[in-house]
Amino acid sequence: MELKIAHLYPQNMNIYGDWGNVVTLEKRLEWRGYKIKYEVVEIGDEYDFTQADIVFGGGGQDKGQLIVAEDLQRHRKNINKANKEGVVFLLVCGLYQLFGNKFTTSIGEELPGLGVFDAETVGSEDRMIGNIVLQTSWGELVGFENHSGKTILNSGQSALGRVTKGYGNNGSDGFEGAISNNSFGTYLHGSLLPKNPKFADELIKRALTRRGDLTNLEPLSDSLAVKAANIAKSRP
Ligand code: GLN
Repeated sequence: MELKIAHLYPQNMNIYGDWGNVVTLEKRLEWRGYKIKYEVVEIGDEYDFTQADIVFGGGGQDKGQLIVAEDLQRHRKNINKANKEGVVFLLVCGLYQLFGNKFTTSIGEELPGLGVFDAETVGSEDRMIGNIVLQTSWGELVGFENHSGKTILNSGQSALGRVTKGYGNNGSDGFEGAISNNSFGTYLHGSLLPKNPKFADELIKRALTRRGDLTNLEPLSDSLAVKAANIAKSRP
């Protein structure tokens, strides 16, 4: 089976090695015999997200977000339809913020979000930076965060997990990230998936299930990934 992985705005939204998430998804699928079709969606491109299997969007500076925010609105209806139809989305930091209802930058510019997550983000004077550890339904996630935006989840909006080390969505309510159907938002750079193989496989399983492939994923040897996660977790 061939799976389609779409990458949202890599030219402007790909800092802190977020590209590594795409490489991990590709490799963990190829190692199990699946074929991958990788597609980039840049500013001005037409794209039907309902025909993708997994969509990835990374982090960026406020400047990069200003550039992509307007273009992202062109896809608002289609991306929300894709989310409702169970397409898997993984959005990190800057694009996580733009998949909420609204992002107000640290100098007060208001950027409209897509409303996939019922949440708002406001830029702040505090920079929340460092290694972060979460407890989630898929076990512990280890990553690196660097954001000034503070995200508040509205009531009823599920979080990805609870922070056991680090700041998370806003440094005060203990929540990190957000989940809507098969769309996952998080502040965890690192990049996230190479050090969190179980979560990478959760995204893959959801994409395969949506395509009617219910076979159990063949286990991979993740000792190196686990070692990397343990070292990252021990860092200040
Ligand atoms: N510019 C946003 C912030 O600082 C997002 C940063 C990022 O993607 N790491 O909150």
